[in-house]
Amino acid sequence: MLRTPARFCRHCGTAVELRLPDDGDTRQRAVCPACGLVHYDNPLNVVGTVPVWGETGEFVLLCKRNIEPRLGKWTLPAGFMELGETTAEGAARETDEEAGAEIEMGDLFTLMNVPRVGQVHLYYRARLLSDRFNPGHETQEARLFTEAEIPWDEIAFRTVKETLEHYFADRRTGRFGIHTLDIT
Ligand code: ZN
Repeated sequence: MLRTPARFCRHCGTAVELRLPDDGDTRQRAVCPACGLVHYDNPLNVVGTVPVWGETGEFVLLCKRNIEPRLGKWTLPAGFMELGETTAEGAARETDEEAGAEIEMGDLFTLMNVPRVGQVHLYYRARLLSDRFNPGHETQEARLFTEAEIPWDEIAFRTVKETLEHYFADRRTGRFGIHTLDIT
């Protein structure tokens, strides 16, 4: 679901009006009738990693979610990018927060538009420097899976499933590209 628009002005707290701004904008925005501030609501970036282990990257680290949505389902470490960080920094931070995993960051691997929820998901490949993890409170369990062990029916998000499928497909060919997908 898309985020609900702001109800009160972020600057002065007045109840906003949903209307076309005066500047020729073609979309309705939450406009403050008191101070005139226009609240733009734009897509958010979700950033994460595909942390791999083993001589040929045959193991992938997944985290069992300890929070809603999809509590108890498995995911790659990922989360919302914060202001002031780059996409790769955000992906590394999420990997540390959710899995407590030490990694060496690799290249961008998937870029997925999810317009239904107003998000762009970006995953980087990453090499694990250790197979010891220290998951944070958002994670029940962090463990390594081979392709055959991946709980495909218990994957939390479509973007994670797509990213894992591309990872194992590329691993078989030995050539890792950047995959751009629209999840509609
Ligand atoms: Zn205002």
